Amino acid sequence: MPQPLFFKSVLQEKIWGGHRLRDVFGYTLPNDKIGEYWAISAHPNGVSVVSNGALAGQALDTLYAERPDLFGYPKSPVFPLLTKILDANDWLSVQVHPNDAYGLAHEGELGKTECWYVIAADEGAEIIYGHEATSREELAERIEAGDWDKLLTHVPVKAGDFFDVPAGTIHAIGKGIMILETQQSSDTTYRVYDFDRRDDAGHLRELHLSKSIDVATIGKPLNTTPARLELEHLTTTVFVSNSFFTVYKWDITGEVKMTQTAPYLLISVLDGDGQLKIEDTIYQLTKGDHFILPNDVMAWAFDGDMTLIASHVNEKED
Ligand code: ZN
Repeated sequence: MPQPLFFKSVLQEKIWGGHRLRDVFGYTLPNDKIGEYWAISAHPNGVSVVSNGALAGQALDTLYAERPDLFGYPKSPVFPLLTKILDANDWLSVQVHPNDAYGLAHEGELGKTECWYVIAADEGAEIIYGHEATSREELAERIEAGDWDKLLTHVPVKAGDFFDVPAGTIHAIGKGIMILETQQSSDTTYRVYDFDRRDDAGHLRELHLSKSIDVATIGKPLNTTPARLELEHLTTTVFVSNSFFTVYKWDITGEVKMTQTAPYLLISVLDGDGQLKIEDTIYQLTKGDHFILPNDVMAWAFDGDMTLIASHVNEKED
């Protein structure tokens, strides 16, 4: 029987984490330093496990390997996407991710193109999005000199904003921001600057300056322009569509029928509640739920008042 896959997923403690994942989404947190919820993940550092139906108890990485039919017989040998929610109670490190070629050559895993939908942001909250250097030499010199104030580009953010963060973009999520991140399934981060912070044991986190300088894009990041389409009971916003993934926001205000046009969909309920109907079965949806609609779910309906973020993989042509 075609059914959605809901998950039990992994929380990640971070020095910059907080407790907004409990306050906003009601997740049970083990402490007040939780930075990330890896809501839909098959990455070895935090694998989601199916929590409902006949496949309950199956880890997403195993399921992806053993049931390719559920994922449209994909080309990618590993589940390619990762959906996270981040609570930045303090600045994340200033960082950059390699592309696939560099990541595979140097770290044995894919690179990381990511993107952010801002769920909430405190008044005055900012991100770092790109840098001011105009050549790799200048970037290296300014990093060496610790000229952070002039080098790093600060951008103010508010709830509802979206940022495209291709591999090579120097970036940091700022204090007081909660985002939903859709990314390639990779955990390779090169840290450029960590605000000279020390952890509870008094240690600085490792920096990776030469690799960062190697992989950083020179030139300002170009954010995407969202494309909005108003339909009955549904506003669709396409935030980004690149060679890795497409990310949508669906604002739902009633009954909306949909059909599967991608191999499978990853969906997160960011606000409101409602229902998902597949054939004759109704699943209740509420804020903070995350699920996959696998390949055998060919048609469904949503009903209610909900804001959803949906994504699907875009497999590269050979
Ligand atoms: Zn990042």
